[in-house]
Amino acid sequence: MFSFCRICKRNYNTKDNHFHSKLHQDNLNNRLKTETKRVSDAIYYLHNIKYLNSQEENFKNKFFCYFCEEYILQNDGPVANFQVLKHLASQKHKKKVSIFLKKNFVKKKRQSQFIISYSSFQKFVRKINLKNFPKNQNQNQNQNQNQNQNQKENENQNQNQNQNQNQNQNQNQNQNQNQNQNQNQNQNQNQNQNENQNKNQNQNQNQIQIQNQIQNENQKSKSISGN
Ligand SMILES: [Zn+2]
Ligand SMILES: [Zn+2]
Repeated sequence: MFSFCRICKRNYNTKDNHFHSKLHQDNLNNRLKTETKRVSDAIYYLHNIKYLNSQEENFKNKFFCYFCEEYILQNDGPVANFQVLKHLASQKHKKKVSIFLKKNFVKKKRQSQFIISYSSFQKFVRKINLKNFPKNQNQNQNQNQNQNQNQKENENQNQNQNQNQNQNQNQNQNQNQNQNQNQNQNQNQNQNQNENQNKNQNQNQNQIQIQNQIQNENQKSKSISGN
């Protein structure tokens, strides 16, 4: 019977002692090196919290977990790698790592290279300062100011239109042209406003999700330490 080895990316005869073969052991060691680097790069953010600006939040960088065979968004929310670190601290991930190491006859103590303890994740969550989030709120304010400015400009344009209306018929023709132009401008501005509002709503939803997660984690840690 043949089976597929994910690490060697080839089929092997199940009668052979493939997992102890030199080929497999070499490939395994390379794989473990790659995954150690990948995980330790993510763990950097456990000790160095990075708050993302709204532009960075839109980057769709993904972390690939080799053990669980799944992709996790790195910038999903205002704290870099929050979801990745949460994944590395999860029971599900720990179990997958444990199965992988056992299957490949790797010493169990190496597990710590590929996981984060739940208490470390808790510490990280407690260190996150919600006060560092409002970069997006400042942006909202700026956008609101811009909207207000646009409204004022519109009012000024309207006043100019009224003044022009008092002038003679030749000018009225020009006015009509101007009015059409202004209407187009207003329509564009309204579209922009709607787009901005949608963006803000998405950003706010992300913030609320992360805040809820942090509150949940804190509650969990309280209930654990209470036991
Ligand atoms: Zn193999
Ligand atoms: Zn995983």
